[in-house]
Amino acid sequence: MSNNLHQETLATHYGYDSSKETYGSVNVPLYLTNAYDFGTSERGARLFALQELGAIYSRITNPTVDVLEARIAAVEGGKGGISAASGSAAIFNAIANLAGAGDNIIVAKKIYGGSAALLHNTLKNFGISTKTFDSDNADDLEGLIDDKTKAIFFESLSNPQIAVADTDKIAKIADKHGVVSIVDNTVASPALYQPLKHGADVSVHSATKYISGNGSVLGGLIATNAKLNAKLRGNSRYAYFNEPEANYHGLVYASLPDDFDLFTLRIKTILLRDIGAALSAFNAWQLIAGLETLNVRMRAISASALKVAQFLESHPKVKSVNYPGLKSSPNYERVKANFTEGLASGLLAFEVADEQTALKVANGTEIFRVMVNIGDSKSIITHPASTTHAQLSKDEQLKAGISAGLIRLSVGLENADDLIEDLKKALA
Ligand SMILES: *Cc1c(COP(=O)(O)O)cnc(C)c1O
Repeated sequence: MSNNLHQETLATHYGYDSSKETYGSVNVPLYLTNAYDFGTSERGARLFALQELGAIYSRITNPTVDVLEARIAAVEGGKGGISAASGSAAIFNAIANLAGAGDNIIVAKKIYGGSAALLHNTLKNFGISTKTFDSDNADDLEGLIDDKTKAIFFESLSNPQIAVADTDKIAKIADKHGVVSIVDNTVASPALYQPLKHGADVSVHSATKYISGNGSVLGGLIATNAKLNAKLRGNSRYAYFNEPEANYHGLVYASLPDDFDLFTLRIKTILLRDIGAALSAFNAWQLIAGLETLNVRMRAISASALKVAQFLESHPKVKSVNYPGLKSSPNYERVKANFTEGLASGLLAFEVADEQTALKVANGTEIFRVMVNIGDSKSIITHPASTTHAQLSKDEQLKAGISAGLIRLSVGLENADDLIEDLKKALA
């Protein structure tokens, strides 16, 4: 199937050919097997030498997982696709594929709390340092790049601040300096925004969220831009790709032909092999089903979120509402110009007087559930300062745009009028 079809069509079919399956199964089969019969020892040797690509062991290859990886690449308009056990594992793999001790990465100020903890704190223990930039306008980005900078990391639509990054500008700066740009596209989802088409090199997802769509499984996905091979080849910044890999019988990734996607291949052969944060085949199978309905869900969710945001904006106890689908949002024009039909996804944040009021509102809802997740079919209410961002200091919280009275909503698939009634009661 051509990968030039519309996204909904690719999300439903790409990467799977039922005519090649023994029984012609129309739905993608779930292969629950850890290992694969090579047939002969010689074929086993060819598989290990990458002379033939095929399933070896489910930590690095599984036919169900392969379909999902091919599909996310097509849906994102990219070349390579690779999975991980969770969004966090996908982000770790994307960074560890480029940076090591002594290197630095440049990270957007407004990002998911878990990613901030991973990138600023845990990676520090691995000798990787961070600098921060403002992804809203990226005016400060270029000055931060040095010889040891291995990646620029940001979120297209940030969780929970709902900032909308200037991906085009960030990608241009990254290209100028031959640095890899990595964008977390979880909140927008590929149905609403495709960052690779705006020049980003790598797109990562917590598939746990909108791609799963019903809060049932964890998963992480990565898609790469076709131009990334050329950026990595011969680039002295990226020794991992240009020098013999002692850890893979001296292979120089950059010497492989262009049919290979170097970035995802190295994640598979080194990081999935050694770290082992691999996606379960069962989860991949569920995520394939989720991807098939992503487009219709994101439309319904975005329409409801806009209604809820408009209601909150008119409520006297609400100090401010942050939803880029609102005309009052400083990000309204950017979303309108770049996102599918100007749809702004299901995350919105609003501010009430103080922490006490915020907790009371969260406790007062019935349909909105108090939990820390987003992208579920069930609507969610969260108080970031005491939960998702609680591990950060007050100062770090404020830097990440989290005030004590901030409430985050993830609007699900319930009727929007019911959601509004629920909030009305909680705010009374
Ligand atoms: C949840 C989330 C992650 C982490 O993903 P997990 O699947 O929970 O590991 C990363 N980035 C964003 C924007 C998220 O919302």
